[in-house]
Amino acid sequence: MEHKVEIKIHGDDDGFVGMKCFACGDRFKLSAADVNEWEPPDASCPLCGLSGPFQDFLPPEFWDVVRKHVENLGVDLLNEFSRGLERSFRGNKSMQFKKGTPLRKKDIGEIRQVPEFDLVAFDCCEIEAKVPPAAALGITYCPMCGTVRE
Ligand SMILES: [Zn+2]
Ligand SMILES: [Zn+2]
Repeated sequence: MEHKVEIKIHGDDDGFVGMKCFACGDRFKLSAADVNEWEPPDASCPLCGLSGPFQDFLPPEFWDVVRKHVENLGVDLLNEFSRGLERSFRGNKSMQFKKGTPLRKKDIGEIRQVPEFDLVAFDCCEIEAKVPPAAALGITYCPMCGTVRE
């Protein structure tokens, strides 16, 4: 039995999804298309320029959703297990097992999106990011290769 969990992050109107830098704690956005096809194992923060594993830039609300999915997976397995137990005890006169109320799954809300940011384009890797307006006026770093954009 295989359990697959698919986690979808809904982008804003332009298809951008929120990210959060593990180093400076600031938020930025990347296009969902770029995120889905991200090739390098690392990413750079467009705001402070620090690089690290791509997953370290996924925002807390993403991990929150991952955690809920994993918990729901556990609920599924427990419910299947107790259904199976009831079945195997059926017809057994000396022992009975009645499954209780199935456990309820958690509601997984949509991932909230961060406020509207300014779009900056990085010619080096032909990708775009959205950063807070103040940051867009200063130096930014290509999230994919870390090149400085002034
Ligand atoms: Zn940063
Ligand atoms: Zn680049």
